[in-house]
Amino acid sequence: MVNITIDGKKLQVPEDTKILDAAKQAGINIPTLCYWKDLNEIGACRVCVVEVEGYRKLFAACNNTVWEGMVVHTNSKKVREARKVNVEMILSEHNVECTSCVRSGNCSLQSVANDLNLRKERFKKNLPVKKKSNEDFPLIRDYEKCIKCMRCVQVCDNVQHSGVWDVINTGSKTTVDVGQGYCLEESNCALCGQCITHCPVGALYERDDTDKVLDAVADPDKITIVQIAPSIRTAWGEAFGLSPKEATVERLAACLHEVGFDYVFDTNFSADLTIMEEGSEFLERLKNKDKSKFPMFTSCCPGWVRFVKAHYPEFVDNLSTAKSPQQMFGAIAKSYYAEILKTDPKNIFVVSIMPCLAKKHECAIPVMNDACGEPDVDVALTTREVDRLIKASFVNPAELSDRELDMPLGVGSGAGNIFGATGGVMEAALRSAYFLVTGKNPDPDAFKAVRGMDGWKEAEFDIEGTTIKVAVTNGLGNADKLLSALSKGEVSYDFVEVMACPGGCVGGGGQPIHDGVESAPVRADVLYEQDKNMTLRFSHENPSITAVYREYLEKPLGEKSHHLLHTDHHGWQMPNEK
Ligand code: SF4
Ligand code: SF4
Ligand code: SF4
Repeated sequence: MVNITIDGKKLQVPEDTKILDAAKQAGINIPTLCYWKDLNEIGACRVCVVEVEGYRKLFAACNNTVWEGMVVHTNSKKVREARKVNVEMILSEHNVECTSCVRSGNCSLQSVANDLNLRKERFKKNLPVKKKSNEDFPLIRDYEKCIKCMRCVQVCDNVQHSGVWDVINTGSKTTVDVGQGYCLEESNCALCGQCITHCPVGALYERDDTDKVLDAVADPDKITIVQIAPSIRTAWGEAFGLSPKEATVERLAACLHEVGFDYVFDTNFSADLTIMEEGSEFLERLKNKDKSKFPMFTSCCPGWVRFVKAHYPEFVDNLSTAKSPQQMFGAIAKSYYAEILKTDPKNIFVVSIMPCLAKKHECAIPVMNDACGEPDVDVALTTREVDRLIKASFVNPAELSDRELDMPLGVGSGAGNIFGATGGVMEAALRSAYFLVTGKNPDPDAFKAVRGMDGWKEAEFDIEGTTIKVAVTNGLGNADKLLSALSKGEVSYDFVEVMACPGGCVGGGGQPIHDGVESAPVRADVLYEQDKNMTLRFSHENPSITAVYREYLEKPLGEKSHHLLHTDHHGWQMPNEK
């Protein structure tokens, strides 16, 4: 322990403590901009500088540690002036069109400039040369807004092992761009969106598809259907300041009807359908003991599918052939539900509300058109986009009452609900696999060993004398480690769940942004709490699922299921797929 003084407060802290953390312990807030705890502690922006007695130079508080007897001033005149100059320099290289910026009101640069009481730009504007981004690609970069904080480089390299971003040029021309001279659409980007949620400003954002949705809603010839992914119900209300108790999925349904959708359904329904198909496929593979396809990987995360295709093509056939819940929903909406409505499926416009950008890519894959030859899902919106859609429609969620989701595709089980968190797909699959093998339900919490935020979890379960060895990973860096260990024969499993985003879809790159805060654990707790309180906790007991098999599909892995609900993942290519 060392004794230090910060702004006149004396305290003792361990000797390797960063000045920033020591100040926090003393209740003193030092502003930051490029800093992200444990990920980006590089002192690049110089906003966190502090004065240390005995030294003329200022110290970055995020990457300098304390020493015995250190006396720190975090808000002296010298510090305030330096911070102002540093932020003004950043602003001189930043396109300050805040009114039309997607991050306006939720931008760390805007906040810090306001907090420092900056009222005019003193330095000559020196914007980087504008490079055109492909506005059709789901991920877009605005070169004039990048503040070179390096967070996107760090999260893409160190958390997602995707290495898309790199530092290019030297000296004053140093900037961040796609590495190897690629443009984004030529890179192996998984479209997880983690670089967006880690960017402190509006330099990275998703393609905005809200106008396409509003056009469809206004078209009297279109029947508009919207599906809500499991993880959205824990997050959509954050932008409106609603608590999870207020921001129910039923309140969101009320908002979406106000926006003008004809039917509001639940992706939890098709998550249950995924379990029926994927669980049955797993048991088939187990029975046939086709070692070339073991372990079986879940396939519901398109970010993970993009990653495995780009980096480990030898494992593509290990992916379950089951489509993701988003795509299963679209295929059922434009076949089974079109028949219920007695309408041409081409009159139906399916929108999904999803936690990432990979879903935008997924619904546009040319082979995802099995119901009627047109895309099964027309548009995928992120949670942030749906929040903007609600705001742009001048709908106030706080003034609405909850409204039940529509029938029959609005019914989902607790098993479908937990799809939104890491481990949830595995747990849901095991609940139903147990039933399919034994004919009786397990305790719904029997497989809870796969819950939690650990990056790589393992468990073994006994189902009627057969031991099933499973693994669950979240974050592509952990998936990379697991695939590498599998390749070397260091580990072996029967069934592996992978979600590309840390914490699963609750931590998805399309979710609301709270700069510097990991929101996934809190959102996951909400999903598990909802599951615990539901009477319907097994996918195979969902009455809408039993109805769709009875009235239309006949049985899991049957002919219609094969056509509508499965894909082989070879129908499209990643740019650099080997
Ligand atoms: S794009 Fe965003 S996260 Fe990446 S360096 Fe620029 S400002 Fe930082
Ligand atoms: S979306 Fe994911 S994989 Fe793509 S650049 Fe961003 S962090 Fe990297
Ligand atoms: S984990 Fe969920 S949010 Fe993240 S890429 Fe996969 S599907 Fe999208």
